[in-house]
Amino acid sequence: TKFEALGLDQSLLNAISDLGFENPSEVQEKAIPILLESDTDLVALAQTGTGKTAAFGFPLIQKIDRESRTTQGLILSPTRELCLQITNEMVHYSKYEKGLNVVAIYGGASITDQARQIKRGAQIIVATPGRMKDMINRGLVDISKIDYCILDEADEMLNMGFFEDIKDILSNTPKEKSTWLFSATMPKEVSIIAKKFMNNPQEITV
Ligand code: AMP
Repeated sequence: TKFEALGLDQSLLNAISDLGFENPSEVQEKAIPILLESDTDLVALAQTGTGKTAAFGFPLIQKIDRESRTTQGLILSPTRELCLQITNEMVHYSKYEKGLNVVAIYGGASITDQARQIKRGAQIIVATPGRMKDMINRGLVDISKIDYCILDEADEMLNMGFFEDIKDILSNTPKEKSTWLFSATMPKEVSIIAKKFMNNPQEITV
């Protein structure tokens, strides 16, 4: 399969070509058509290094309404490093998408700077759970209108003790949205989150 067969817009195909990606990875081949074609919830069992960032990143970018400055997509990830890495990839993937802003929210950096970036209009936020919860509590970010919520490395986030933070964050999101959960393993806590916050998810394994 080629990227052209997955239903991606030309602007994304151009960015993919610039990055030198020749063929979709397995998780991309499985996830991208499902996510583009429907507003389903998704549970994907995939390790790091499988190309999962693009598996959720490409469909998310394509589905965002660029005419609106409202925050529409939230990606939660366990660590500052991963948060910055995902943001960096999303910026490359969206290089031809005019008016699309991706902002990183993570601990150990100025909350004022991050709040200022959010205020300029971030359709996609990539965040670690602790800083995200802090900014919600301080009224610095509004995720009440998001359409897409991605839980990346869900097992790692729960291992690190973010269960309560994730529940709090998700309770600030609308009921009507799509949730995409990516995890290398499926321990009990991950299935609890999936049961409680997801609606009849499609499942893929790579
Ligand atoms: P990830 O699993 O998302 O952390 O991705 C691992 C690495 O593979 C990243 O450096 C990506 O830029 C790269 N990558 C993702 N998809 C592809 C692809 N289809 N072809 C080649 N490299 C890719």
